[in-house]
Amino acid sequence: MTVTRPQIGDWKSIEELRALQERQLAPLLARAARSPFYRARESGRSAPATAADLRSLEPTSKQDLRDAYPFGLLAVNRTELATYHESSGSAGQPTASYYTEGDWADLAERYARKWVGIEPSDVFLVRTPYALMITGHLAQAAARSKGATVVPADSRSAATPAARTVRLLHRLGVTLTWSNPTEALLWAAAARAAGLDPATDFPSLRALFVGGEPLSPARRARISSLWNAPVVEEYGSTETGTLAGQCPQGRLHLWADRVLCEVLDPSSGKLSEEGRGRLVVTPLYREAMPLLRYNLDDEVEVEYTDCACGWRLPVVRVLGRGGFAWPVGTGTVDQQQVEDLVFGLPASDGVLFWRARAGRDLLHIQVESQAAGVERRLTEAVARSLGVPCRVEALAPGSLVPTSVLTSNPDALKPRGLFGPEEDWAQALLYY
Ligand SMILES: [Zn+2]
Repeated sequence: MTVTRPQIGDWKSIEELRALQERQLAPLLARAARSPFYRARESGRSAPATAADLRSLEPTSKQDLRDAYPFGLLAVNRTELATYHESSGSAGQPTASYYTEGDWADLAERYARKWVGIEPSDVFLVRTPYALMITGHLAQAAARSKGATVVPADSRSAATPAARTVRLLHRLGVTLTWSNPTEALLWAAAARAAGLDPATDFPSLRALFVGGEPLSPARRARISSLWNAPVVEEYGSTETGTLAGQCPQGRLHLWADRVLCEVLDPSSGKLSEEGRGRLVVTPLYREAMPLLRYNLDDEVEVEYTDCACGWRLPVVRVLGRGGFAWPVGTGTVDQQQVEDLVFGLPASDGVLFWRARAGRDLLHIQVESQAAGVERRLTEAVARSLGVPCRVEALAPGSLVPTSVLTSNPDALKPRGLFGPEEDWAQALLYY
């Protein structure tokens, strides 16, 4: 099936963008009606065919996807599938997602839309998981479609501890990376442990692509200054692929020409085009697994506003997973607020790693830092910004992230049966 998907610049106004969305709805709804899940849901009713019909549909929840595991949302013949993925949900219930080759063309194009483009001359280090999830494959597909050289470093893998990743970054002259933001902080510490300065000893690095975690402005700025390179954010999920990417103005734009985005007010159940609430998406070009009004349960703020980039796409602020704010005293705190204050400390305080526990009456924060006065500075910042009682503890380096995590570089073992007389045969089957 040949599909022409819109490219940035194809629409000149929000009205033209809406017309592009509208044109895709009928074919999308026809595809969705082929999946057992949507067929069962619509039984007894006439199948939705227009935008107005879509507006009357209940959102599809994560629990719906879990209940339909594995192939309840399949809308094509199994032989048309290119890849199968899973993400682990709550209570260990998996969520399946699957894509055709056509879906992959859409996914790769969306990923590659960020303001820092991917070029054939790029050496692109992929440092997100390849196992079951989509993230590593997504970056790999996008980079290969642009002719770049992919270094599949993976993450959460015994084959590539932090020290080896730093060696790859340094020795290969890596130009672009893809990871979660926390990784970029770990590499900075591992680079220093190896005697390298992240700001000056990696001159080829031209941008760090990050996603998979909410990122406060202060942490983004800190990562960028540590590595002396722009941090380019993206947002998406294994069930949907990339949903938003960053423009030259530093704003995160939803790819609304490819994905219809709505905001759900969880208290009223009302869906709107913009405002604050849970993001609900309808990917418009999905073939293998159409999703109609899929509720990602991520708290976002969506705004249709003019941006100097000229992309004419809505701006999104990702505030995190719903329900992740904790009460402390008479207030509440969430991860982004604390993170913003920790990374709002002067760079000379040297804080890369922190953790906090929200008690009923006290926010307890630990930071790795040896700077004089860091406890007072952070306590005052929390009092000023959040107005909650707080105790800050400065810990010695290595307290939160052990030095061995940054420096160890074990050999990857292979399965082996025969050992020499002096060798440790307890290693025989422990190769994983
Ligand atoms: Zn913009």
